[in-house]
Amino acid sequence: MVVFEGREDMVLSRIIVAHNVAENVLRSMRNQAEVLVLTGDRQELLQQVGDADAIHGNGSLVIDEELLAAAPRLKIVALSSVGYNNLDLEAMRRHGVVATNVPGVLDDTLADLTMGLLIGTARRLAESDRMMRAGIWRPGGKPIWGVEISGKTMGIIGMGRIGQAIARRGALGMSMPILYHNRHRNPQAEQLYGAELVPLDELMSQSDYVVIAAPLTPETRGMVGEHEIGLMKPTAVLVNIGRGPIVDEQALIRALQEGRIFGAGLDVFEKEPLAPDSPLLKLNNVMMVPHIGSETQEARERMADLAARNILSVLRGEGPLTPVPEFRDFTERRD
Ligand code: NAP
Repeated sequence: MVVFEGREDMVLSRIIVAHNVAENVLRSMRNQAEVLVLTGDRQELLQQVGDADAIHGNGSLVIDEELLAAAPRLKIVALSSVGYNNLDLEAMRRHGVVATNVPGVLDDTLADLTMGLLIGTARRLAESDRMMRAGIWRPGGKPIWGVEISGKTMGIIGMGRIGQAIARRGALGMSMPILYHNRHRNPQAEQLYGAELVPLDELMSQSDYVVIAAPLTPETRGMVGEHEIGLMKPTAVLVNIGRGPIVDEQALIRALQEGRIFGAGLDVFEKEPLAPDSPLLKLNNVMMVPHIGSETQEARERMADLAARNILSVLRGEGPLTPVPEFRDFTERRD
């Protein structure tokens, strides 16, 4: 039997929480609905979703036709993430289920991590740390040469909310000229940070630091491939905090192995978790973290809270607060 926890004095909507969420956020939902917390296991979700009006999930939650067909009451899938590439939006629209994400509450969190990866890769911090732990002060007494950061050119692929927070750090904190590549101009970034819109090839060839902060879409999948990586300077660093499949990982590995670029700082990977036999693990010129971009207590709470508020707003009939762009026109309702 499904046991939803919540107030017993009202006819309540039912919310499934399909990942770890802070207790105070759960409490805010339990005040107004019945809440069932699951582990995130797909089979379990499929079994329980029949009664649910809403799902509170993270970016790895897969919503497809099979799940939607099993969820006749479902009104909203509220992601506690910005990326929503695991949602079948067409199927959701057919089933009258709205999708929301959490834009804008983690921009600085992501930008901080991006700068950490950028500096760590350029100055070989992870590699130096590994050497010291192995009892090596300097290999053969030689310097551990890094590349300069301040004043060098940063090229941002995806100058949106997070891209702009990264640009701010680069331009104002480190006097970096900023190039960017978007489909549309970002006048604010141009005005505030002197950012210049350029074609992708120009960004790849002119930048000392290429930073990927774009969403994964059919258009951006594989956007940074063999050709684009081939345009990078041998001293350049690539940082990816967007989504793994935006980069052709095999092409990146070849460039790193052959020393055609200086290094890469990666938060995201083609397949996550990274395979234990990935060649990336053997490369000293890569600094990697396991998709921890938004992993601070504070950011995660803001994200979970906004997802919860999206759910409660939809359940009250007031519509979503932050629908994904494809659902901004979403008005369809189900009883
Ligand atoms: P955003 O404000 O929507 O910015 C995305 C930017 O990408 C926009 O400026 C958009 O500009 C650009 N873009 C989209 N498609 C493009 C294309 N085909 N070619 C060139 N540029 C394109 O989103 P955000 O909040 O900054 O988040 C960006 C991404 O970061 C998310 O989608 C997510 O994948 C990733 N992210 C990662 C983590 C992590 O933990 N590593 C956490 C949060 C977010 P145009 O529309 O003008 O093209």
